[in-house]
Amino acid sequence: MSDITGVPMLDPRRANDLVQEELHQAFDRCLGHGRFILGDEVTSFEEACADYLGVKHAIGVSSGTDALIVSLMALDIGPGDEVICPTFTFFATAGSIWRVGAKPIFADSKPRCFNLDPSDVAAKITKRTKAVIPVHLFGQCAEMESIGTIAASAGMPVIEDAAQAFGADTRGRKAGSLERLGCFSFFPAKNLGGFGDGGLVTTDDGALADKVRALRAHGGQEMYDHPMVGGNFRLDALQAALLNVKLAHVDAYAEGRHENAATYTRLFVEAGVGAPGGGDACSRECSKTDSADAPLILPTACQGRHVYNQYVLRAPGRRDALQAHLKEKGVGCAVYYPRSMHLQGCFRDLGGKEGDFPVAEKLSSEVLAIPVFSELTEAEVQYVADTIIAFMKTN
Ligand SMILES: *Cc1c(COP(=O)(O)O)cnc(C)c1O
Repeated sequence: MSDITGVPMLDPRRANDLVQEELHQAFDRCLGHGRFILGDEVTSFEEACADYLGVKHAIGVSSGTDALIVSLMALDIGPGDEVICPTFTFFATAGSIWRVGAKPIFADSKPRCFNLDPSDVAAKITKRTKAVIPVHLFGQCAEMESIGTIAASAGMPVIEDAAQAFGADTRGRKAGSLERLGCFSFFPAKNLGGFGDGGLVTTDDGALADKVRALRAHGGQEMYDHPMVGGNFRLDALQAALLNVKLAHVDAYAEGRHENAATYTRLFVEAGVGAPGGGDACSRECSKTDSADAPLILPTACQGRHVYNQYVLRAPGRRDALQAHLKEKGVGCAVYYPRSMHLQGCFRDLGGKEGDFPVAEKLSSEVLAIPVFSELTEAEVQYVADTIIAFMKTN
């Protein structure tokens, strides 16, 4: 074993240090021109994102949460409307629906890929459903072909919550370019991690892009002329300038994460403690057999390019003990997510109760995310894997 005594879940300084000089230059440039709200810095970052993602329009906004809110506002979704989203997701997906006055309608996920189960989306559609928000959870696209077909036949738009999936793709197209609107986050822990809060809305629809741009600045098209009420959802020029430096490296970040994920999977399989789930088994039925494969159920990419914002394994029956052990050994880890949306106190009036979403609830009790960021050293990945393997073999 090495002399490593711990591994952080995330250390954003490592990626930032590698481009420190360019970051300083970008910062100095902003200080020099003194234009801190929107302007050329934001426009050039938006154009670079649109180009990378393969969309016609990208609009910088204040956070991933605001990207979702402004997207829902642009589609005129509000009181009386229902929007379907996974119950197994980060809070912002459901919270944004609530914030515009609409009702979040939850759907269950699949046990292998952690993403929305299209059949449950279909089952939840009513005449009040106005949109569906699949989440590309942990960096892998949801089953967009099925979800797109279901939404299209119901005549409703799809908003992609691509907050964790900058650079992911499916069938050759990037997350955020697949449907009517895409939403991204530049929270420091995301794959394109910023220096504070930031987000992006993407679309190919010019009219919708204009509307999002207006809503981002109080709904005004001309100064002091407000045909609609928006908010202050602007992305800072400084943030855009700094993010533009890191955008050039976003594929390298994804490759580093992918490599670390592949190493973990190989080491767990070789040690006989883990089996990857996934592939064609990625259906609801696989939940009946998936805990018999091996003590650890490992993540698998079944939808194209997985950018591993998180490497999430499942440890049925032993998650809490494994988490405590890792903590003791100085290994950062986290549970995403311990409580699904249908069991959150703020959504209690929606009537959700334990047992309503069996897959999501099972996942909440089994999942554990381990360090996977691209600047981990080989020795650190080995240390994390060794620590987990030793625990699984003796407990
Ligand atoms: C991070 C995240 C968001 C919200 O992004 P913020 O920039 O933190 O507001 C929304 N949805 C998902 C799935 C996320 O992971």
